[in-house]
Amino acid sequence: MLLPVLAGRAARLETVRRVVVIGGGLAGIAAATVLAERGAEVTLLEKDSWLGGRAGAWPDQLRDGTRFQMERGFHAFFRQYYNLRQLLRRIDPELGFLAATTDYPILTPTGNESFAGLSHAPLRNVATLTWRTETLGLRDLIKVNVPAAMEMLRFERGHTYGQFDRQTAGGYLDSLRFPPLARQRLLHVFAHSCFNPQADMSAAELLQMMHFYFTANYDGLVFDVANRPFSDCIFTPLGRLLDRLGVSLRTGVSVRALVRRDDGWVVETDRDSVSADALVLATDVSAVKAIVAASPTLDDVSWRASVDTLRVTNAFAVWRLWLDRPVAPGRAQFAGTAGVGPLDNISVFELLEDESRDWAARTGGSVVELHAYALAAGATDTEALKRELLAGLHTLYPETAGAQIVEERFLLRQDCPAFAPGSYAARPETVTPWRGLALAGDFVKLPFPTALMERAAAAGFLAASTLLDAWNVAPEPLWSVALRGPAAWKKPA
Ligand SMILES: Cc1cc2nc3c(=O)[nH]c(=O)nc-3n(C[C@H](O)[C@H](O)[C@H](O)COP(=O)(O)OP(=O)(O)OC[C@H]3O[C@@H](n4cnc5c(N)ncnc54)[C@H](O)[C@@H]3O)c2cc1C
Repeated sequence: MLLPVLAGRAARLETVRRVVVIGGGLAGIAAATVLAERGAEVTLLEKDSWLGGRAGAWPDQLRDGTRFQMERGFHAFFRQYYNLRQLLRRIDPELGFLAATTDYPILTPTGNESFAGLSHAPLRNVATLTWRTETLGLRDLIKVNVPAAMEMLRFERGHTYGQFDRQTAGGYLDSLRFPPLARQRLLHVFAHSCFNPQADMSAAELLQMMHFYFTANYDGLVFDVANRPFSDCIFTPLGRLLDRLGVSLRTGVSVRALVRRDDGWVVETDRDSVSADALVLATDVSAVKAIVAASPTLDDVSWRASVDTLRVTNAFAVWRLWLDRPVAPGRAQFAGTAGVGPLDNISVFELLEDESRDWAARTGGSVVELHAYALAAGATDTEALKRELLAGLHTLYPETAGAQIVEERFLLRQDCPAFAPGSYAARPETVTPWRGLALAGDFVKLPFPTALMERAAAAGFLAASTLLDAWNVAPEPLWSVALRGPAAWKKPA
């Protein structure tokens, strides 16, 4: 659905407005694009030498001389990522670089599930999945806590966050009384796919994700994948678009502090100072906190306290392996996994994108990527973690057990936002106490259900529209899945 938009009317700015956007991830790029399209003079400051942030890619080279783009790896582009797709259509109207996956299997040592072939109609998709899964028999269904399960169909922002934000996602999942195997196969993936551990994630945020991805999603759970490295198909073209729109794109510049003045803003970087009429702060959580802490003129005590409540969640690992032999025919491009220690998913990259396809065709090998999210504090010993991930791969794809690792890249990072129990009330929103400063990123509280890359793009659009609204300029239309679940109790206030 198209959301009601802010009120601004003029198609473009009639006076010169200089806006600095801080952070060149999806949120910052979305904000910069809309602002520049409406005639603002935009400077985009990005700390890294490439665009894209957590979805970005950087050049690397294998020992055999093969050049490739390394990333934080596999990203699923769901069909209900309406705002992200609106951004991406600006560089490719047909979205030709996105290819449909045929399946979304969940693999476990005791059996598999599949999200393929489900109806796109919410409710019917839940009914079909429940009916066809062997892990939920009639006797199990009788034991399920129906009122708790109904909350998955009853999402409404005020109700859901009011009732469930202080509960943990794990506690909520326990309360459903699903048999352990059904819980592992059907529910684990939702809890882990936003990087937060169940024991330290808000049950309301989990319910919001279930609503966004499943019970309010008319576009299906099977998603699209990029058929080339993200730098080639997304961020280099987006950089060109920003250039055409006249954005001054400065990479390799780290912002340290913001200074509020009577006549606007000064952005202090590690190189120089940049003046602006307005700012969009679109970095990741740690940088937002560091920049605000170093900016005493952002002197609203309660806003500073709300920024201070932000946290990053547990670390995650991405391990890309170049193997000397292929995986078995018929392996999925991407498979969620459960019941194999810390391993959360397996991607077979030669089935996804061209660089790996070329390497695999030339060498007869396979490029496999293993992800592990929400790692416990004590589980970040690299060698132990690698052993566990490899054991998980060998269990689910036994043909890899004898394979030699020809080359590898291992990333252990901790920069995804936490959605801890009780964090919703204080979570900062797009609007700040100052008309000329808007916040964007996948950690920002938004007035509609959303998650991950889509949340980042939508937050960027909303931040740009918030600034434009103050200048009476037309906002960017924003799209959302239904705001309320199909069985929600009451109309929103
Ligand atoms: C392993 C992994 C897998 C994922 N898989 C999926 C998926 O399948 N589907 C999905 O939808 N999402 C997925 N995500 C999440 C997705 O990548 C993020 O939600 C999204 O990219 C966040 O965008 P952002 O713009 O909010 O933040 P970021 O991408 O973090 O952008 C912030 C930018 O600010 C810059 N910055 C930081 N400090 C400064 C400073 N001081 N000065 C200037 N610039 C600064 C950073 O370098 C960065 O470029 C995944 C993430 C990871 C890590």
